[in-house]
Amino acid sequence: MERAIFLRNPNKLHLLPRHYSPRNFFSLFSSSSKSARSSSFTRRILHRPISPLTPRSLLLPRRCRFLPLSDTTYSSSFHFNKHHFSSASPHAIATQCSPGVSTLPDEVAAKYGFEKVSEEFIGECKSKAVLFKHKKTGAEVMSVSNDDENKVFGIVFRTPPKDSTGIPHILEHSVLCGSRKYPLKEPFVELLKGSLHTFLNAFTYPDRTCYPVASTNTKDFYNLVDVYLDAVFFPKCMEDHHTFQQEGWHFELNNPSEEISYKGVVFNEMKGVYSQPDNILGRTAQLALFPDNTYGVDSGGDPKVIPKLTFEQFKEFHGKYYHPSNARIWFYGDDDPTERLRILSEYLDMFDASSASNESRIEQQKFFSEPVRIVEKYPAGDGSDLKKKHMVCLNWLLADKPLDLETELTLGFLDHLMLGTPASPLTKILLDSGLGDAIVGSGVEDELLQPQFSIGLKGVSKEDIEKVEELVMGTLKKLAEEGFETDAVEASMNTIEFSLRENNTGSFPRGLSLMLQSISKWIYDMDPFEPLKYEKPLMALKARIAEEGSKAVFSPLIEKFILNNPHCVTIEMQPDPEKASRDEAAERKIFGETLRSVPSLSLLDIPKEPVHIPTEAGDINGVKVLKHDLFTNDVLYAEIVFNMRSLKQELLPLVPLFCQSLLEMGTKDLTFVQLNQLIGRKTGGISVYPFTSSVQGSEDPCSHIIARGKAMAGRVEDLFNLVNCILQEVQFTDQQRFKQFVSQSKAGMENRLRGSGHRIAATRMDAKLNVTGWISEQMGGVSYLEFLQALEERVDQDWDGVSSSLEEIRTSLLSKNGCLINMTADGKNLTNSEKYVSKFLDLLPSKSFVEAAAWNARLSPGNEAIVIPTQVNYVGKAANIYDTGYQLNGSAYVISKYISNTWLWDRVRVSGGAYGGFCDLDTHSGVFSFLSYRDPNLLKTLDVYDGTGAFLHQLEMDEDTLSKAIIGTIGDVDSYQLPDAKGYSSLLRYLLGITEEERQKRREEILSTSLKDFKEFGEVIEAVKDKGVTVAVASPDDVDAANKERSNYFDVKKAL
Ligand SMILES: [Zn+2]
Repeated sequence: MERAIFLRNPNKLHLLPRHYSPRNFFSLFSSSSKSARSSSFTRRILHRPISPLTPRSLLLPRRCRFLPLSDTTYSSSFHFNKHHFSSASPHAIATQCSPGVSTLPDEVAAKYGFEKVSEEFIGECKSKAVLFKHKKTGAEVMSVSNDDENKVFGIVFRTPPKDSTGIPHILEHSVLCGSRKYPLKEPFVELLKGSLHTFLNAFTYPDRTCYPVASTNTKDFYNLVDVYLDAVFFPKCMEDHHTFQQEGWHFELNNPSEEISYKGVVFNEMKGVYSQPDNILGRTAQLALFPDNTYGVDSGGDPKVIPKLTFEQFKEFHGKYYHPSNARIWFYGDDDPTERLRILSEYLDMFDASSASNESRIEQQKFFSEPVRIVEKYPAGDGSDLKKKHMVCLNWLLADKPLDLETELTLGFLDHLMLGTPASPLTKILLDSGLGDAIVGSGVEDELLQPQFSIGLKGVSKEDIEKVEELVMGTLKKLAEEGFETDAVEASMNTIEFSLRENNTGSFPRGLSLMLQSISKWIYDMDPFEPLKYEKPLMALKARIAEEGSKAVFSPLIEKFILNNPHCVTIEMQPDPEKASRDEAAERKIFGETLRSVPSLSLLDIPKEPVHIPTEAGDINGVKVLKHDLFTNDVLYAEIVFNMRSLKQELLPLVPLFCQSLLEMGTKDLTFVQLNQLIGRKTGGISVYPFTSSVQGSEDPCSHIIARGKAMAGRVEDLFNLVNCILQEVQFTDQQRFKQFVSQSKAGMENRLRGSGHRIAATRMDAKLNVTGWISEQMGGVSYLEFLQALEERVDQDWDGVSSSLEEIRTSLLSKNGCLINMTADGKNLTNSEKYVSKFLDLLPSKSFVEAAAWNARLSPGNEAIVIPTQVNYVGKAANIYDTGYQLNGSAYVISKYISNTWLWDRVRVSGGAYGGFCDLDTHSGVFSFLSYRDPNLLKTLDVYDGTGAFLHQLEMDEDTLSKAIIGTIGDVDSYQLPDAKGYSSLLRYLLGITEEERQKRREEILSTSLKDFKEFGEVIEAVKDKGVTVAVASPDDVDAANKERSNYFDVKKAL
């Protein structure tokens, strides 16, 4: 359930493109309104917090990485329910496989103990797929071959829990803590350190557990496969009670005067999950929709129930379900299919057949005869205004048995029509009503055996709850009676088709996206090939819409599945200021290395040069244009960059809402609904967002607003026309709509404080240390939340003033001078696009660029605790190490990663019980920061941070450990990128003045990192201990206790 939360991109959420992301098609579906909704994924899939260790491309500002970052968008990237449309594409870029790819004769399969069940060439992903069965155990294997170098392996077990002790989740954590062949404590962490993997993680779903890995290096790939197979079948945690305690739960008594408490990684992780209202809502809905089968309990674990789990139950669960007879295995990529079966046979042959797959079958939930209503409390802060803090959500189980793919596809399409964009009718009507701040519920979900639909609002006052319910039902009825606008249907269709053609999964491996689609049916004993073949049902749906009209297709669905469906659960969530302390009290009441080295690569396997991105700098009408000639399968990606330095300082907090207004406010001739439909019909998406970073060696921040867009080559003219229309013609006149944006952003910020407090803390520390941090905090930190609170009133009292501030931002920003264009496509399309760029530039005002008075602001440098109603803390400490005279050396990347993976992992996570601890060096500003995530401690964690210098000083390390640390760092630097991400990285390097020479130099420094560098860095890092500033987002009790113990160490600021 934890997505990329660890990414140290505190400012990022707001800087994320709202309508467009280079990741994949899903994000288009889940554009702003959808991503504003609570993600079902949060309640569904649990996976490891690898992000502290997540690739961080060298010399790429952390504030602009295109990893899936925001909690909700990342989740949708692989849990999005429209898997039929997802990244499998008939024009896959990396999978240009000819039908003649290496085939595997039946005799060879038989030699390794497999029989071929079926085989197909799947045009949608240009792959040959063969389904094998392991004769002795019945294990099933999908072996998918094509030309994609980003190879993927995954093993999936059906793991339906019978209670909410979190067995599947604790097991998922524990099996990766050492195995028969790899007995060291944390092979998972060792792998992160020393491999070139492009993906490495594990997920717990409500009914299955997946272990996927990916790599572009064949040797590395097979190493990873071997470690994972050994881990799942022969984990050490079955004999080792200690792992179970560490990952699951244990008692802890620090000193005799203290009360005893429960700790454990999963236990704390789930306490964090259960502190977030959106998650509580999602979980309550799932449990209530499925009272009779396995989905009626929480596979992640309910903190109140987790301590009931015994070691014996834990072992039994593993013995039964982690068995080849209950396994589905996936291979994908350009490696040798024979080798796949050879590796598997070594493991599978050791087992006999079992009855596990019968016992793990998922029962269907029978339909209710009448609707159900549930009222649930969630923890809220006391001081704050609780009147408008209720939530209400309507949930339906759509069918009493699995649906056929065509119906599911049509439902997915219907979901996009109703909710996919801010202009979609259900989203728009709910938000326009003013009854609530933001949408909750995730629309249609079809990842489990039976599909569901959910929709509602949060930020609702108690007396309006019934009105929300009536509005949802009334709107659905109206949609069934009147149907959808033709333009809207066309826009949805184009959005879907664009994404299919583009097949852009961003940093998420394509093969993994396909695996998750296939497994979503295969896990229920259905055909694993079918979910990959969307072409036919999609064409059939298009034809039906063309023939019968969209109303005939969609209205009966709304009636049958929603309006006339009695299996409906309405959930009302009430804020309760006492709940957090009651839960704590209840908890207190119940509570009374043989490092035989993970296989790894040697330094000689590492390329000496950084990945080269072709860049040609030119000039059109006096404006700098960067062109990247890369194969993009006929898509043009464009960024239009404006310098924000012309803005007055006091306008900065308004910038995120300015960007949203450009896309969601409408022009004189077009309502915002029409404008959105036009963008959907003609392009692959447009987004506008601010980008800010420090620049090494300069006091001045680099600060821009970027408009990004993409379109098929034949639509480039439309793309530039639309960008021009958005920038120049949108009118800032719709007061009601703007007010909605403010409420939504406020709700989003409140959510972020609870769920991603480490980001808030990081931003706040940066704001105390440099101007760039201050700007980011103004646009995405606690100050931003305060700004939004005040703005809500100002919109009512002085709308003209707000509106003219928005206009002022536009006027200072839009100018040919200070503009820069970046384009990525193949050469021919780049050349063809130039005339449209030229036309676009002609339309821009050409006033001279005037830099506003220097921005110069910082927050006061004291230690600060941001107090919120929570049971877990986020603790940060940071200082600028460039101030000590330190000169950046590539070794710093290796060292900070090493500190995260060893010292902080051991002290903050393993012995501290926090979900994670990590550090980060912002090479642009020089700020080195420590952060913890979902941490039961506060001062104790600060002591760990302060001990880092001494740790480095005393460090001893053998050659093997050192080269692993280096290789792991290079793996981050070389993280796999699709063409649009490459072009974008190159743009950012240009903006930040990072040259190819510098990249080469840093790479050489990384590769030659020595133990001496670690020790010297130990001195540098003492600056954080001695001069660092501390910010914690924490519970009031813990802050009180800390201030008593360390005489008012923190200034206290109440935020919720
Ligand atoms: Zn977990």
